[in-house]
Parts: sequence; structure tokens; C-alpha cells
Amino acid sequence: MRKISIFGATGSIGQNTIDLITRDMDSYDVVALTGGQNIAQLAKDARQLRADVAVTADPIRLQELRDALTGSDVEAAAGAEAIAEAAARPADWVMSAIVGAAGLRPGLVALEQGATLALANKESLVTAGALIMGTAARSKGHILPVDSEHSAVFQGLVGEDMDAVERIIITASGGAFRDWSLEDMAKATPEQASSHPNWNMGQRITIDSASMFNKALEVIETKEFFQCPHEMIEVLVHPESMVHALVGFSDGALMAHVGPPDMRHAIGYALHHPERRKLPVERLDLAKIGTLNFRTPDLKRYPALRLAHDVLQAGGHAGAVFNAAKEIALDGFIDHRVGFLQMAEVVEEVLDRLSGSQCLKIDEMTLDTVTETDHLARKTAREVIAELNR
Ligand code: NAD
Ligand code: MG
Repeated sequence: MRKISIFGATGSIGQNTIDLITRDMDSYDVVALTGGQNIAQLAKDARQLRADVAVTADPIRLQELRDALTGSDVEAAAGAEAIAEAAARPADWVMSAIVGAAGLRPGLVALEQGATLALANKESLVTAGALIMGTAARSKGHILPVDSEHSAVFQGLVGEDMDAVERIIITASGGAFRDWSLEDMAKATPEQASSHPNWNMGQRITIDSASMFNKALEVIETKEFFQCPHEMIEVLVHPESMVHALVGFSDGALMAHVGPPDMRHAIGYALHHPERRKLPVERLDLAKIGTLNFRTPDLKRYPALRLAHDVLQAGGHAGAVFNAAKEIALDGFIDHRVGFLQMAEVVEEVLDRLSGSQCLKIDEMTLDTVTETDHLARKTAREVIAELNR
């Protein structure tokens, strides 16, 4: 039996992971499940999967979780320390599906104890690529990408030599506003940005898809995971979300990964790697689909993509600044304090203000330097937003 843990079990990726696990319960011994505010879901899943421990990120909800687990053998715990402690419990395979920078620490701890880390939390690579890749190289643990584009690139590289790769193309659906005018985008509401044409995901990543901050994070994630020059990475708008990525080789061949927009493919690939097993995803009928479309993204509409390359050029802790500023700008958008297009302005301003700061110049990246940079960038982003609203 494989020992597994799921961090962010109550979210969209977490629930898709649980869907796959429950189809083959006898193969897995569940160590830890973690969640946030959805105590009922966390307790229900922890009981069903007979987890050793269930952890809520919110310490105030501990008693509620204990009550919900009464009569079961599942241990209840709460808070960031308890999440890190759960990540230190030996497991063979760990799903990292917490949203945001909070996902970094448990992922690092899981790698250190030698787990295979299925990495959905893109923020880990964006904020601390060198740290997380370095930890994987030093420890017995290793990382498998779960973001659909990165899983697609990873699959396209099996048996290939990285030296023969010329380009890595990740696709973007264009999100909720792909056919909107800039004027309309400026007035867009969180409700409008929260519905994705193709994928069913958590609210934050859905809004990030509409602004292409999600794709910007993924460009950085690509560079960090595949250790390629950023000039090699391209983004292509592909409204159907069926070609997830393409790898271009020196002989002119383009290997495309084609599949339905269902995260259970990438999760299942990481779960069964290096084998391929049957997965409950739709089989595409290309004759019925007929046409697939591609176009170059308009950087005026999607300034986040331009910023991603600036961040990669700056290197060091710029990714941590970018992500933290983006998280605060997104909070502001959700709370109606920041306009949709203003999110990129806030992030760019924070990157500018911190470009000369000492913390960006630190040579060695540790969890402390990343955390310090993250806090500084959040504080700066709040100041920028306060100035905007003055
Ligand atoms: P979600 O919002 O649906 O779920 C997030 C999970 O993290 C929940 O379990 C929540 O309780 C937990 N959480 C939130 N804040 C936390 C905190 N501070 N500490 C601990 N736990 C916390 O998000 P999602 O859409 O499942 O995305 C999860 C991660 O996977 C994100 O990094 C996202 O970018 C990435 N991802 C998601 C998809 C997708 O299809 N949903 C695709 C690719 C990558
Ligand atoms: Mg993706």
C-alpha cells in the first residue's frame, strides 16, 4: 500500500485527487489530509479515507474539526505548524494543492522526508524555484508537475534530450474575458472573472486565468522546473483548452499534448508515474471537434505576461515579490478595492519599488529569505493599493 497525503484536500485539485483515490481505496494508506474553512468536507473525506490526521489551516476551527471527527480514529489538528508537522509524517506520495504561498513550506518538508511531491501549487516554484528544486536534488524526494501545461511538457520530454529542445509553448484559454474589449475589462467584476469557459477550478486561479496572471506564474514555473532559458518559453492563446503544451525540437518537430480539460489527467499521471493507468477522463473525438484555434496573446490586454519575463530577467527573489504582490492585488480585486486591470499596475509598481531593495539581492535562497521577501512585498502592495484608493 502506498502512503499518501493531500495538502489542500478540500480544494478543486484536492477533491479531484480524492476522486481518483476513492476509485482504488485498497491501494492507498492515507496519512494526512489538510483543508481550510470547509471543516465538514475535510472531516467527511478524512473519515471516508481513514486518514491518520486531518488538519485545518485555521486554529479557531480546531474544536469544530474535533467535533466533526468524534467517533472516528482520525486525529484533529490546526494551524500552519500542524500542517508542517503533517508534511513531516512519512509518505510515499504527497499532493501539494494548497493555494498561494502557504503551500511552499509543507512541500519543502515533504521533499525533505523523501516523498514524491505532486506539485499543483505553482506558487512554490514561482516564489522559491531554486530552493524547492535544490531541496528535491539534495533529498531522496522528487517533484512531478501537476499543473496541466507542465505535466504536458513533462510528458513531451520523456526519452528526449533537453539539449535538443528549442521552444516550450504553453497554451492559455484566454479565460473569462478573452473576447472582451479593454474598456470592458477595466470595469469587470469579481463575479464575472470567476467563471471559466473551459476549466472548473478554485476562484483565485479562475480570476488569475482571466487576467493571465495564472499564465504568467506558469511561465516562471516552466523556467524553474525545466531549467530552460526564459526566452525559450512561449504562450499561445488556445480557446479550446485541448492542446495543453507543445515542445519544439531542433529538427523542427513540435510534440503536442492533447487531452480534455480535466485535471484528473495530470493528477493521475503524477499519481501513477512512471506507469500510465486507465483514468476516468473523456476520450476526445477530434473529428467531432473539427477545428482547434491558436493566436498570439495581446500583451496590452495581458500585461502580466510581460511582467513574468521581467521577473525572470531579474531573477533571485523577484518571483516571491511578483507572487506576493499578485496575491494582495487579487484580494483587493475580490474585495472591490482594485480594478481588474489595476491588478497588473499594482504588481508592476511593487516590483519597481522593490527592485533595488536589499532582500532581492540575497544570494542564497532559504525559506526565511523567501518569507521575508513575501512579507515585504505584501506590505508594499498594501501601501500601493492604499495610495490608489486615496
Ligand atoms: P482551491 O481554492 O480550490 O483550494 C485551495 C486549498 O488550499 C483548499 O483546501 C484550502 O482550504 C487550502 N488553503 C487555502 N489557504 C490556505 C492556507 N493559508 N493554508 C493552508 N491551506 C490553505 O484551489 P485549487 O484551484 O485547488 O488550486 C490549488 C493549487 O493548485 C493552486 O496553487 C493552483 O494555482 C494550482 N492549480 C490548480 C488547478 C485547478 O484546476 N484548480 C490547475 C493547476 C494548478
Ligand atoms: Mg495550468
